[in-house]
Amino acid sequence: MACEIAVPRSSSDGDESIASFVRRRFGTEALNYLAEPLLAGIHAGDAERLSMRSLFPRLLEAEQRSGSVLRSVRAQPRAPSHTASTGAFVSLAGGIRELVDTLAAAIPAGTIRLSERVTELRRAGGFTIESSRGTVRARAVVLSVPAYVAAGLLLGIDTALAALCDAIPYASTATVAFGYRRSQIRHPLNGTGFVVPRTERSPLLAATWVTSKWPGRAPDGCALLRGFLGGGRDPNRLDRPDDELVTLARQALSDTLGIQGEPVFSRLYRYTRQSPQYEVGHLQRVATIEQRLSQVPGLFLAGSGFRAIGIPDCIADGREMAARAAAFIASHTSQPHQATRGRS
Ligand SMILES: Cc1cc2nc3c(=O)[nH]c(=O)nc-3n(C[C@H](O)[C@H](O)[C@H](O)COP(=O)(O)OP(=O)(O)OC[C@H]3O[C@@H](n4cnc5c(N)ncnc54)[C@H](O)[C@@H]3O)c2cc1C
Repeated sequence: MACEIAVPRSSSDGDESIASFVRRRFGTEALNYLAEPLLAGIHAGDAERLSMRSLFPRLLEAEQRSGSVLRSVRAQPRAPSHTASTGAFVSLAGGIRELVDTLAAAIPAGTIRLSERVTELRRAGGFTIESSRGTVRARAVVLSVPAYVAAGLLLGIDTALAALCDAIPYASTATVAFGYRRSQIRHPLNGTGFVVPRTERSPLLAATWVTSKWPGRAPDGCALLRGFLGGGRDPNRLDRPDDELVTLARQALSDTLGIQGEPVFSRLYRYTRQSPQYEVGHLQRVATIEQRLSQVPGLFLAGSGFRAIGIPDCIADGREMAARAAAFIASHTSQPHQATRGRS
């Protein structure tokens, strides 16, 4: 990998797959044992298809600026380490649900309608939103739903825009959580988990030891482990029944961590079409979507399908789109409709 400093910079400024970039600069072994398993474990994606320009633009910039990623990293001042005081991972004491509950409690009563499925969006003057519980009229709409749901809602407004949204691929994953007594597990559970290279042919993409990442996730003397399956690497795996997936994940974890006996509990969660895949050309597709969207004043798209991978980016994107919608309403104050946004 150290030879990366001697690899000439690319003469192209187009998009390329992450596999192509890593293979080109760091070699096939770095791709197989570092990049591919990290992308499968974290993005549920396939390194041969995911877009370098969408997901790691800073590495492309580093290559262009310094001629080498390693040289660029070495030239950076060392950032202060947060890991000593706060840990590398951040969560909420009561789990991520606390975020949703706190947001819902902070919003004034009567301004939000929960558990309501939007079934149709029409445009005539302002917007008409049909939902499972009635009709809402609005001057501005922010759709913060998966891109393929936005596609269905946009069909009556702009079929080309709908097709562009529908073309954004999504991967499905499943996680299996296992509770064990700590004494059942031989492994020291140092670190926080592992990712699995494709070449290992394991049913697991990755696993985390949740109790090593955050305190309070299991009673004293117990450990909570989580295995990940499916994703872009192994989509057909998820066609199998729940009990088969639980057994596969349990066997793979037991072999790797030296676990004896049965788990205290196990639980499977399926996340069907919940991981958007920013494949090569994604930024160009989103630019075209935004260009078409500019022809529909008052309509905005937010969320992970388009520009925001992960919760912090989704929050930033949501704020930006809400500010744009508010600015739009402020500049069209003569029309007395109520603003609304898709449920998220
Ligand atoms: C297994 C897994 C683990 C993850 N771990 C992390 C992590 O550790 N850290 C991190 O930052 N990110 C993580 N993510 C990613 C994170 O969950 C997403 O980036 C984020 O939730 C995306 O937010 P969103 O609002 O774009 O989409 P979503 O959270 O998918 O929200 C879309 C909303 O639209 C609603 N909806 C759909 N159709 C309709 C309709 N017709 N009418 C009304 N509402 C509708 C849905 O019910 C949903 O509430 C993980 C994702 C998965 C799948």
